[in-house]
Amino acid sequence: MNAMDKPAQMVPQTTEHFDVLIVGAGISGVGGAYHLTQQCQGTSFVVLEQQGSFGGTWLTHKYPGIRSDSDLYTFGYRFKPWTGAPIATAEEIRKYMGEVIEENGLDPHIRYGHKITSAQWSSKDKLWTIDAVRTDTGLPLRFTANFLWMCQGYYRHSEGYTPEWPGMKDFKGRIVHPQTWPEDLDYKGKKVIVIGSGATAATVVPAMAADCEHITLLQRSPTFFRTGRNAVELADQLRELSIDETWIHEIVRRKILDDQAIFTRRAFNEPETVKEELLSGVRNYLGPDYDVAKDFTPSYRPWRQRIAFIPDGDLFQGISSGKASVVTDEIDRFTAKGILLKSGQELEADIILTATGFNLNVLGDIDFVIDGEPLVFADTVTYRGMMFTGVPNMAWVFGYFRASWTLRADLVGDFVCRLLNHMKAKGAKQVTPKLRPEDGNMPLLPWIDAENFNPGYLMRGMHLLPKRGDKPEWAHTQDYWAEKDELPAIDLDDKAFVYA
Ligand SMILES: Cc1cc2nc3c(=O)[nH]c(=O)nc-3n(C[C@H](O)[C@H](O)[C@H](O)COP(=O)(O)OP(=O)(O)OC[C@H]3O[C@@H](n4cnc5c(N)ncnc54)[C@H](O)[C@@H]3O)c2cc1C
Repeated sequence: MNAMDKPAQMVPQTTEHFDVLIVGAGISGVGGAYHLTQQCQGTSFVVLEQQGSFGGTWLTHKYPGIRSDSDLYTFGYRFKPWTGAPIATAEEIRKYMGEVIEENGLDPHIRYGHKITSAQWSSKDKLWTIDAVRTDTGLPLRFTANFLWMCQGYYRHSEGYTPEWPGMKDFKGRIVHPQTWPEDLDYKGKKVIVIGSGATAATVVPAMAADCEHITLLQRSPTFFRTGRNAVELADQLRELSIDETWIHEIVRRKILDDQAIFTRRAFNEPETVKEELLSGVRNYLGPDYDVAKDFTPSYRPWRQRIAFIPDGDLFQGISSGKASVVTDEIDRFTAKGILLKSGQELEADIILTATGFNLNVLGDIDFVIDGEPLVFADTVTYRGMMFTGVPNMAWVFGYFRASWTLRADLVGDFVCRLLNHMKAKGAKQVTPKLRPEDGNMPLLPWIDAENFNPGYLMRGMHLLPKRGDKPEWAHTQDYWAEKDELPAIDLDDKAFVYA
């Protein structure tokens, strides 16, 4: 239904206007609000968040052990020093974000319990009209904004992705997706199977192992893991020398980024050596008799999917203690008692956790309409993974896969603020990315090169994502080390930007 055709009781009674409307109060939206206050003083803005508080990913996920797999020196903002251990719990990340909100007076700008349902652009008025609904009362609300800053993340927060397996209805126990963790789930003394092999499975297994009778990580295929201490030696040394935390933050960020650049280069140039190093990290914990080839050796080369960090090898310690185990096999079907595998083995369980990923959610489940026409996002071409051809006055924060998301949230923040200031200086009310004459014959490709990076949620949803070209301007290159110099140097008067 078009917002304009709604019954009278569903039509908002008032309209509030802001220069910028930010969608979402996760790490990107809160960062965006900070950058606006610092770099676009005098710009009015509001952050609309459907949940009851800030945090996004770190509020939604409540499963045992929930933690980052990036270090917080780079997952933290560049402007607020991180002073704790590098791998942080969701609670610690939310505390840090809460401090950013408080220290910068952002709270009055954020409205919680506001779910945005539609966004309509009018070229005549050069305005977005945004319809939202109060999640507590159902009250419809309307906003107008000159610029829309999409910080809605990349997956649906309301529920995770669970494949359909035969016999699921026969299972007598409980099936739970970690994204929607039931507060009343009692797993003490229970037999638990965790389906999945990614970071979530690797986190939840050691966190639950001590309390369960037994917990089994059931995977179709293995994943690469990195192990190490949850500490940064350089940070500890600098602290011993009473160096200022602002300096420590910057120095340690640079060191970590440099180490990561070397690792990424090596993963591409000498994949076999890197693979051996990762596997020997696992063998150090599990001993020579463990079948590491079967359970921890992926078929793909290192870095084709995100590599989860296992602090202090806790997953492997759980396996060594006998409380946790890994089974690499395919599911034939669910049974009343558990799961029957294709090998014929049956795993018994009281609880089955499906750590099987996300539902890609490209634009926050918001209906977009541009001058009366529904926006088909997949028909657009991305400008550096931030803006989209034919979509005026809108930017999207999509972070990195191989580096911390927030590195890009900060870079995009600078870009958006620079663009807004440029428009103000020019007296322009509208900016729309457009392919230039020299881009006419450019091949249009899927958003991500599946040869380069291919996690399941992206492969399942690729048809919903914008297209990419074969030039850096028209791609989300996933390359922080290039973008940190390229994004600040973007020529805002390039023909890729059409102003009105
Ligand atoms: C379990 C887990 C662990 C992760 N660990 C890491 C990590 O260690 N390092 C890393 O770099 N990345 C990690 N990621 C990726 C992670 O999602 C991002 O790094 C980052 O937190 C995303 O922040 P965001 O603010 O862009 O989006 P989100 O955290 O997804 O927040 C988006 C917000 O927008 C709101 N929203 C969406 N649609 C609407 C709407 N229509 N109306 C109103 N509000 C809306 C949502 O409610 C949400 O609060 C992890 C992801 C998950 C799921």
